[in-house]
Amino acid sequence: MPPSPKLPPPSSSSQPYCDVYVLHGGNIEIPSTLVLAESDGGREDEPLLIPCLSFLLVHSKSKKTFLFDLGVSENWKECYPPAVQKLMKIAPFRVDVAPGRDVNATLGTEKIDEIDYICLSHFHWDHVGDTKPFIDNRRSVFVVGKETLELVERGYPKNQEAYVSGELLPFSPSNERILALSPTGANGNPQEWAPIGPFPYALDFFKDGSLYIVDAPGHCPGHINVLARTSSDGGWVYLGGDSAHSRKLILRESPDKVEVPVDWRLGCVHMDKEASEDTMRRIREVWGLPRVRVMIAHDTEWYEENKDVRESWWPEKLPSL
Ligand SMILES: [Zn+2]
Repeated sequence: MPPSPKLPPPSSSSQPYCDVYVLHGGNIEIPSTLVLAESDGGREDEPLLIPCLSFLLVHSKSKKTFLFDLGVSENWKECYPPAVQKLMKIAPFRVDVAPGRDVNATLGTEKIDEIDYICLSHFHWDHVGDTKPFIDNRRSVFVVGKETLELVERGYPKNQEAYVSGELLPFSPSNERILALSPTGANGNPQEWAPIGPFPYALDFFKDGSLYIVDAPGHCPGHINVLARTSSDGGWVYLGGDSAHSRKLILRESPDKVEVPVDWRLGCVHMDKEASEDTMRRIREVWGLPRVRVMIAHDTEWYEENKDVRESWWPEKLPSL
């Protein structure tokens, strides 16, 4: 295999970067065969409890705040569409979030009102939390994959069966608080996207090399990841959203073998299995580079190691590698 393309070096000793903080957006129980290959422990009728992680990034110079994903909301019974509520009644789908411990409650009203950008990797129920306080703060700009917009536009209650709420975003006549991004297609902005490391399409969000939105196809249309510098001297973090639901799927012993599980009743958790495998290969490449920390939304291994370590969670900073 050719060597992985490197990530760009810092532009100077004062290269801007982002401080990263991890927030716990509850846990969910799902069928293990949906997200784990049999060789990784996926067992029929065996539920799997996985964490939902959210990340707050703060720009080192401007102090702009950028929140990536919200996990599940403790108020899911009020703010999730009936179709999701119905799903939660089918074992083993279950939301497990302690009262007062979801992302919104952990941040608190004051911090929520200060959030500049809220980026959703995609619109599945275990990532969107409760966006209402961020809509109501009249400040947060929502950063989303353009292809996911359609799901919200024809979401609940317009479509009674929809799994996505039609009220997730601050729609307005000019949609000035919605940044819908797409590197390809009729509405894409290809001129602003460029390759970075192993990824063909990335957007330099703050235009100073501190944070990139990465096009991460496969899980669902418009699925996006984040690649951010975590120091002025070469540290990085890659936030993989639902590109994979387990580290094991990315970190295969054989470098070309990526096995995406397919549950015989529910099908594949990724809408485009091939694109998903390709994205996982690219994430593995970036993971192999020095000083790159990779975290996915349902990072069980990280969670198990850190769940009782107070210093690993917001308001404490995630150390840069
Ligand atoms: Zn998920």
